[in-house]
Amino acid sequence: MADRAVRGGEPDPGVVDRPADVPLPFGEPVEVARLQPRQLADGRPVCQLASGSIRAAAETCACCGRDTGWIYTATFYTAHEVDGRFCPWCIADGSAAERFAGEFTDSYGLDGVSEDVLHEVTRRTPGFHAWQDPHWLVHCQDAAAFVGEVGYSELAAHPAALDQLRVDMHIDGRRDEHQLENFLTHLGEGATAMLFRCTICGDHLAYADAS
Ligand SMILES: [Zn+2]
Ligand SMILES: [Zn+2]
Repeated sequence: MADRAVRGGEPDPGVVDRPADVPLPFGEPVEVARLQPRQLADGRPVCQLASGSIRAAAETCACCGRDTGWIYTATFYTAHEVDGRFCPWCIADGSAAERFAGEFTDSYGLDGVSEDVLHEVTRRTPGFHAWQDPHWLVHCQDAAAFVGEVGYSELAAHPAALDQLRVDMHIDGRRDEHQLENFLTHLGEGATAMLFRCTICGDHLAYADAS
């Protein structure tokens, strides 16, 4: 899958490289910035490019019909026929989700958050590429911000997130300590971790994603 090619050392020419934060050419999609919070040094919000879910492309948006130079490439769940993909602005203002009665991320796991936050995640925030159906993590009763897909070394920089993932996986049935450590230290080679940061307390948290 071309979407995964960035990890293999063979950059897909259609993918913007990971550190290359690019300001959105117009508009200020505040909701996009809140839960996908990459920022330029001067604080301007930028599109989340880390997951490759929004890419530079000359493509007409299926919702507004404009070619903004940017297009969303990850999940959108709808029962309607959608002829094309969306620009980030039609995601951020909710118009794409409303027009096609769809969601960018499943509400699975979004427990204990207000209905407004639930809709912010599912209807106004870009999803991300993952093997399994992506889901969003919650901390301090708010949706956490998606940081990106990471491997072991990046996860180990946030020991609390690593510990929490270890506990979650143990609860989920990974009872063999040696196997579990082996799985964790090899994250980034096949299986990866989806890293989030709490927008309230700043803690990091993660879940594991594998094919
Ligand atoms: Zn649009
Ligand atoms: Zn928190």
